[in-house]
Amino acid sequence: MLGEVRKAACVAIGDELLAGDYPDSNSGAIAQALAELGIEVERFVVVGDSKENLERTLYDLCARYQVVVCSGGIGPTLDDVTRDAAAAAAGVPLELDAKVLEWLRESYARRNRKMALSNERQAWFPSGAQVMPNAVGTAPGFRVWIDGGMLAVLPGPPHEMRDMLQRELLPWLRSTCGQGPALATQRFYLLGLPESNFSDRAGDWMARGANPLMGVTAHTGILKVTLRGRAESPEGAQALVAARAAEFRERFAAEIYSEDDPRVGVALVRLLASKGRKLALAESCTGGLAAELLTEAAGASQVFQAGWVTYSNEAKSACLGVDPALIVRHGAVSAEVAKAMAQGAAQRSGADVAVAITGVAGPDGGTPEKPVGLVWFGLSVGGELSAVEQRFPPVDRTSIRRYAAHVALDLVRRHVR
Ligand code: ATP
Ligand code: MG
Repeated sequence: MLGEVRKAACVAIGDELLAGDYPDSNSGAIAQALAELGIEVERFVVVGDSKENLERTLYDLCARYQVVVCSGGIGPTLDDVTRDAAAAAAGVPLELDAKVLEWLRESYARRNRKMALSNERQAWFPSGAQVMPNAVGTAPGFRVWIDGGMLAVLPGPPHEMRDMLQRELLPWLRSTCGQGPALATQRFYLLGLPESNFSDRAGDWMARGANPLMGVTAHTGILKVTLRGRAESPEGAQALVAARAAEFRERFAAEIYSEDDPRVGVALVRLLASKGRKLALAESCTGGLAAELLTEAAGASQVFQAGWVTYSNEAKSACLGVDPALIVRHGAVSAEVAKAMAQGAAQRSGADVAVAITGVAGPDGGTPEKPVGLVWFGLSVGGELSAVEQRFPPVDRTSIRRYAAHVALDLVRRHVR
């Protein structure tokens, strides 16, 4: 039998979170780290700086979950109420920790600063709590038991939170609660498949209780697929994931572009270099974004010959030799012009592969025949020309341009693979 998967909750604390000043990024990072230990986070809660509210929330969550991790509200100011709420929820008073007070004084003295009286608040903890030192800030965190649940309190600033999580909380959890069931993970990054088609083709691999469990997220054309296997031993979990991964590679052979790095350009540079091919780009609506994605890769100079950003019709003719009559007859966003752009880029750069992008990124400039989101791609491979049309959903301009750059690089991948 598998050991029972332990359940956890995360609490993000602060009025600013509720006001929408910044989003809660801490809870996601905590959940990811806990998952590695086999602890499954079931709930995120955001609470303002109200002591009564927070006390009730912590009390209720600790009654239901074995592990509750919160972040924020342990600074020196009066609006930082987490320590008071935690003590109240645990039914214990706050106590001054003389060693922490001394440490605080010293760390201020080392920076030639006098400690403000309010900083003393940071040396008070719920009676019986275990202090977690803060190696990169002033507010120490702590752990305290509330009924059956363990409450851990981390600082709000994300870099302090991460440091204390890695240095203090995770090692403690690992040694106290044991490893739990072993987990193994495998990622795939896919292009050229809408999310709904993906789930049809993945079938019951995506069933909720499946092991390995498959999750998928979609963003501007990229599907990120995660396989998570669970077993009693690490080898067992690994074997479960490896078996499904092998089937997955077969079923989605045409769409997988990477298993480690999500960056489309980086994966393409790797592929082109391994095939000894050179690429040129002719971009209109993406304004150089495809070139930017490609040059993110360290070895880009080996495979990237040249790129043009030809935004105006004149530039398409002057820089790439597109016949002005072609533009008049078919419009700049057309199969004919896309092909002519790719041809020009290939000829003028000497690259053996060229891809061209011309489309309507919006929000204005769409017509019934050529709506916002319509993009034509031209491809020249060894002198052979082709064109592909894509109609992206009329989302925002940024996303359409990103979609288009991803598709262009993916077209190249599919032709040189
Ligand atoms: P400080 O000593 O800095 O006051 P604190 O533990 O009291 O630390 P907060 O005052 O709650 O933390 O938050 C400090 C800052 O940390 C916030 O202004 C915000 O920039 C960041 N922060 C806090 N909580 C979160 C969160 N859940 N997600 C992302 N950023 C956060
Ligand atoms: Mg604060």
